Amino acid sequence: MLLAGEVKGELARIQPARRCCRRAELLGLVHGSAGSELRTMDHATARTAVLLAASLGITVEAPRSVIGDGRSRSRGARHHLVVDVPATSLGSWSWPEAPECDRRAFLRGALLGSGSISFGRSGPHVEFVHRTADAAASLADLLVAMGVRPLRSERRGHHVIYLKGQDEIATLLGLVGANRGVLELETQRVGRDVRARLNRLVNAEEANLARTVEASDRQLAAIDRLEADGSLPRLSPALRDTAAFRRRMPDADLDTLAAALGVSRSAVNHRLRRIVELAAEQED
Ligand SMILES: [Zn+2]
Repeated sequence: MLLAGEVKGELARIQPARRCCRRAELLGLVHGSAGSELRTMDHATARTAVLLAASLGITVEAPRSVIGDGRSRSRGARHHLVVDVPATSLGSWSWPEAPECDRRAFLRGALLGSGSISFGRSGPHVEFVHRTADAAASLADLLVAMGVRPLRSERRGHHVIYLKGQDEIATLLGLVGANRGVLELETQRVGRDVRARLNRLVNAEEANLARTVEASDRQLAAIDRLEADGSLPRLSPALRDTAAFRRRMPDADLDTLAAALGVSRSAVNHRLRRIVELAAEQED
């Protein structure tokens, strides 16, 4: 099972070759944060922001370490890293005009900055938490434009964009370059599908077997009755043969019996039914 942290680690290690993509990723990292500061609990993410900024010639201070995120101080101390990226140095960005490479880079930054990934028992989950409705709305628009269907909700005054379902999450991870994450999702999915199919097969097989055994029991009882009242030797050779083979092969299905007798499946079926009928007639 892949850990969410490994996916983020994989994303943080990606270093876009193009300058345009590096700027877009940095914008994604600070998307929705107050001013242009990135707050994260993840060291790799903070390092990525610093490296991206440096590669763009933007001077940023080393990440500051703060306790709590300024919103939930009362809920106990949580260690955060803060990277201040001067807003003016990034310039403006408008995704409708941005090339595909930059949209992907922006999404990768957003996933690292405000997103979280989990692979739970109930399936994968991805969400982005924003302080403002605007930030959430623009990210949702970008996701839609990239072929991912986001859902929205509010939680404790925060605006949450989340993805439900394997397909949506696999699409997003693919877009941002989390290839190991995509692979893991596929493996999990295949595992589940194969298990489900096997279960169905086993159930169907058991049902078939139960039907075969039930029918065979009925036929064997009929043969016993015909033998007990002395009518078995008087049956036609075809019926006598069939009765003899059924006794020899009590668990065989119709196909196996047909092969053994060298006749068609429907012929065997017809003969066995005839035997059961004759036994019932004797009974009356
Ligand atoms: Zn680019």
